Amino acid sequence: MRLIFLGPPGAGKGTQAKRLTDKYGIPQLSTGDMLRAAVSAGSEIGKRAKEVMDSGGLVSDDIVNQIVSERVEQADCANGFILDGYPRTVPQAKALSENLRQKDFVLDAVIELKVDQEALIRRIENRVAETIAAGGTVRSDDNPESFRKRLSEYREKTAPLSAYYQEQGELVVLDGMADVDDVTAAIEAVLEKDAGSSASAARI
Ligand code: ADP
Repeated sequence: MRLIFLGPPGAGKGTQAKRLTDKYGIPQLSTGDMLRAAVSAGSEIGKRAKEVMDSGGLVSDDIVNQIVSERVEQADCANGFILDGYPRTVPQAKALSENLRQKDFVLDAVIELKVDQEALIRRIENRVAETIAAGGTVRSDDNPESFRKRLSEYREKTAPLSAYYQEQGELVVLDGMADVDDVTAAIEAVLEKDAGSSASAARI
């Protein structure tokens, strides 16, 4: 199963992706996590990405396209993967389509989680408070200024992906404001329906 999760920062993509990972045994590929790992490791990519990430901007398409292209070839992706935070621009979506086509990989679903902006700001504030309470380190881009920039980058560069995938007939939009378990149930219903329709298509 190969899935894309779309939605603004704080929409719950990571939370839902983790749950599906457990259920379906496929990895969650978060470009944010991969880039943060590159920053921690002090690699060349990490050095190039750090400043733009801290400010809430987007890392260049070339860098993330390359990271994802290499990642999906690894053995743990043989049964599929969940992309979380990628693609984030229309050029990334086009590069991904081409990349998957070359590898003979087919996308099963693109799921967008819709949430309102007020809720997003509250969720990020909660995430910061919980991290501090647990004695963890707050992400360097989880501050009001960078968060505003992340939201505006989302609206300007990522939101157009909804129309892009809608035109391809692949988009499913779900209510990300619902209870976490209800969102999981709604996603599973989409995936089961999808599995059913490809099974029936295969029988024809
Ligand atoms: P968020 O909670 O904002 O969705 P992520 O962990 O997905 O955070 O991403 C954190 C940062 O990593 C982004 O603000 C951006 O700088 C960078 N990043 C992650 N994925 C991409 C991508 N596909 N394209 C460009 N930049 C990305």
